[in-house]
Amino acid sequence: MDAPESPRQLLAQSISAGHRLIGQILLSEDYCLRHVDDAGRDDLEISTDPITAREIARYDEKGNYRPLKSAPNLRRGWLIQAGSMEGLEIALEFFYPSALGLWFSSIKDTLQPTPLRETLERQTGMYRVTQLLRDDQARELIHCHCNSAQGCLRSLLWEIAPGVPINSLPRDQLSLAKVGDDRIPLICREACNLLVAAARPIAKGNLPKKEES
Ligand code: SF4
Repeated sequence: MDAPESPRQLLAQSISAGHRLIGQILLSEDYCLRHVDDAGRDDLEISTDPITAREIARYDEKGNYRPLKSAPNLRRGWLIQAGSMEGLEIALEFFYPSALGLWFSSIKDTLQPTPLRETLERQTGMYRVTQLLRDDQARELIHCHCNSAQGCLRSLLWEIAPGVPINSLPRDQLSLAKVGDDRIPLICREACNLLVAAARPIAKGNLPKKEES
């Protein structure tokens, strides 16, 4: 296989090689996407517009808003016939933002994960207080919000700080080494805004009592 020169080329090569699962989505060589649990169904609602992915990704099965697109609660019952590799790429960007670009960077060995401490150091205003989050609190938070069973399907490639590992998730979710042969990896390069927001009330509890607000 030639070294891919773009995320699109990487995607095309991978689908040809049988890597057709990304998150909860199954891809096919005829540029279709569907929920992996809908494989084999012939009663799916068909769309030929890849932008339909934006609406599908927005709400879960019960109609609740999905703030985190890589949460394991993608609704079922749809089929997108994207029509081209470009269409596939567009749809995937709505389902799993930046996933193809991050994967391409990791293949090219240019991916640079950002440790949690660095992400928190960047915070200003109401989120500056997250810098007070302790390592044990960070691990607990990550365990609750990022675990692939209920939280997020991405593999976390960052540490709490250089040399300070996360440790509160299964090893499989902390590297790409165990991503199955049929899978395209979903990478988390740095803590997302939702995780930082969730850290705030915990970190506020670390303020000296008179500074709490
Ligand atoms: S920090 Fe990464 S792994 Fe955790 S919820 Fe956010 S995107 Fe998912």
